[in-house]
Amino acid sequence: MGCNARSLELGVIMCKHCGTIIDTVDCNRVKTFYSDCMQEECVVARLEQEDEPFLE
Ligand SMILES: [Zn+2]
Repeated sequence: MGCNARSLELGVIMCKHCGTIIDTVDCNRVKTFYSDCMQEECVVARLEQEDEPFLE
């Protein structure tokens, strides 16, 4: 894997919208990455939070 297990650290990829942990990556600094989980619940919740001025 090319990684030194001596100090395995973890990066976390979180959904920037709902905070769900999408994935983790090893062999990196401890860091949080933000992405989009693209899960239906998350997408729907996001749409509902937005005002839709042109909604009829
Ligand atoms: Zn999400």
